[in-house]
Amino acid sequence: MVKNNCKAIKRNGEKCKRPSMKNSDYCYIHSFGRFRKIPFYKNPTFHIIISLLFATIYFLIPLFFGSTKEKQEKIIDNQATSLKIQK
Ligand SMILES: [Zn+2]
Repeated sequence: MVKNNCKAIKRNGEKCKRPSMKNSDYCYIHSFGRFRKIPFYKNPTFHIIISLLFATIYFLIPLFFGSTKEKQEKIIDNQATSLKIQK
């Protein structure tokens, strides 16, 4: 089995010596931006971008929708008033 090399040419004119990825003419570094050669869902760059995006969203959600001291006090107040009504 012969492994194909990456077909990208570096800035200094040399050919890239890294082995190309499966289903691609390019290595993992040169696959960046070459979404036409392989489906985007097989592009590792796409996966990295998507996972970073989800990680960022996941960390930002608690900042906007998380618990605050005011929300906690409101809940405690509501519980206190409902307990008074029951008496
Ligand atoms: Zn390469």
